[in-house]
Amino acid sequence: MQSKYDVVVIGSGLGGLTTANVLARNGRSVLLVEQHRQLGGLATWFRRPKGHIFDVSLHGFPVGMIKSCRRFWNAEIADSIVQLRHIRFDNPDFSLETTFDRVDFTRILTERFGIAQATIDDFFNMARSMTAQNDGHLTTRELFERFFPGRTDVVRLLMEPITYANGSTLDDPALTYGIVFSNFMSKGVYTFEGGTDRLIAMMEAELRKNGVEIVTSTDATRIEVEHGRVSGVTFADSALPGCGHSPLAGQTVVCRAVVSNGNLLSTILEMVDAKYWDREFLEQAKAVRINNSSTQVYIGFRPEYLADESNGDLLFTSVAPEFDAKLLLSRQITSRTFSFYYPKTRPQLAPRCSVVASTNANFCDWSTLTPEAYEASKRELIEETIAHLEKYISDAREQIDWTEAATPRTFARYTKHRGGASFGTKYEGLAISRALPEQIPGLYHAGSVGIIMSGWLGAVNYGVIVANDVDAVL
Ligand SMILES: Cc1cc2nc3c(=O)[nH]c(=O)nc-3n(C[C@H](O)[C@H](O)[C@H](O)COP(=O)(O)OP(=O)(O)OC[C@H]3O[C@@H](n4cnc5c(N)ncnc54)[C@H](O)[C@@H]3O)c2cc1C
Repeated sequence: MQSKYDVVVIGSGLGGLTTANVLARNGRSVLLVEQHRQLGGLATWFRRPKGHIFDVSLHGFPVGMIKSCRRFWNAEIADSIVQLRHIRFDNPDFSLETTFDRVDFTRILTERFGIAQATIDDFFNMARSMTAQNDGHLTTRELFERFFPGRTDVVRLLMEPITYANGSTLDDPALTYGIVFSNFMSKGVYTFEGGTDRLIAMMEAELRKNGVEIVTSTDATRIEVEHGRVSGVTFADSALPGCGHSPLAGQTVVCRAVVSNGNLLSTILEMVDAKYWDREFLEQAKAVRINNSSTQVYIGFRPEYLADESNGDLLFTSVAPEFDAKLLLSRQITSRTFSFYYPKTRPQLAPRCSVVASTNANFCDWSTLTPEAYEASKRELIEETIAHLEKYISDAREQIDWTEAATPRTFARYTKHRGGASFGTKYEGLAISRALPEQIPGLYHAGSVGIIMSGWLGAVNYGVIVANDVDAVL
């Protein structure tokens, strides 16, 4: 270990990992510190008895990941990204399968929904070309009303997957919807062959090859400021069980720049002494809304059960009469996304199948429960999910040999995200994140913010942007 680094990166989510990699490749000395035992942040996995490996956020990402991984990681990582071809919807408005690209959505919208080809083309073109100057005040609701007035079924088709993906609502800016829609719903959905464990192992090998010093199980507690600029980071043992004693606990590492990949509000309000912030900036930061959280149910099947791939790769289900972003967050669950993992997910291992069911969720619905009520609520969540899955796999119950649930509390605990946020902050977080170095020179944030800089692709790309900012200043 050195006593001094050019940059300390706090947190090893995809944003932090990418920032560290780009800076190290540019010849900077980089220390990457993670409070968990393993790298990846929300891009994570866990092993369970009976040979199960569950992926937490490997459900689908846009094609842009191939280009970003090739440029900022390596060819082997980029070449492992493959398309998921069977995306299904099942709700009271429609049941259909799609390859999730512009051609197929156009076919569905014309043939099944009776929309004119010219309207669909105009919608796709507008979604792709919106700018803050021209369309800054337009909401997503207004955008849909302009092209598909009164068509709640069309709104459901075009909006529900994006609300699932990042919690955005019809009241969010149409500009952010347009960017995510154009990335995510025009060229298909992709996954990483080999699973999240293989991806993160490949990223770790690349980081070490490029000279990044990596220390896990270590909590960054304070970002030090001297003469108005960043001077170092002080560390402690991780609060997570099983992490042991950190070699950095109680020490301050000197550096020229700090990139926090932790939660934006925690970075501002917990890691830096309040006296270093401009008062007005601090008030603006406190007003940033955290994105919603999630629940997940992990379902492992017996080794001899190989699920039929006609179930699809991703299945967006809902029993709600129509699309409603608030209902998607409710503890009375009406909508679930099922991700099916077949032997093709991890071709390097013995064939196994599993399902991860995800819902959007509010932290407050889970945070105040007593330990008994919390356990009961998790059992209920698992039971309801299996009952729902039986609609698609009739003998699911007999084939299952592992179930487990994660709640907003789980996400908060393992990543330290306020409110267990799955996608960082709402849109206004981006400007605050970008403004950190104006407040305290040498301090940066790279992590999910503002819908567009979130998800796997957003986090990687934001990591690159911030690495370039830091590099220019260094
Ligand atoms: C249930 C779920 C499903 C999802 N599904 C998808 C999907 O299918 N497709 C997609 O594109 N995106 C998905 N996402 C979102 C995606 O996973 C995230 O947007 C992305 O991985 C976040 O990356 P990040 O760089 O912001 O860092 P994060 O993953 O948020 O990681 C931050 C890291 O910082 C560490 N840290 C925090 N504070 C400290 C500290 N003080 N000291 C040391 N370390 C610290 C944390 O432990 C963590 O490792 C999903 C998210 C969830 C929760």
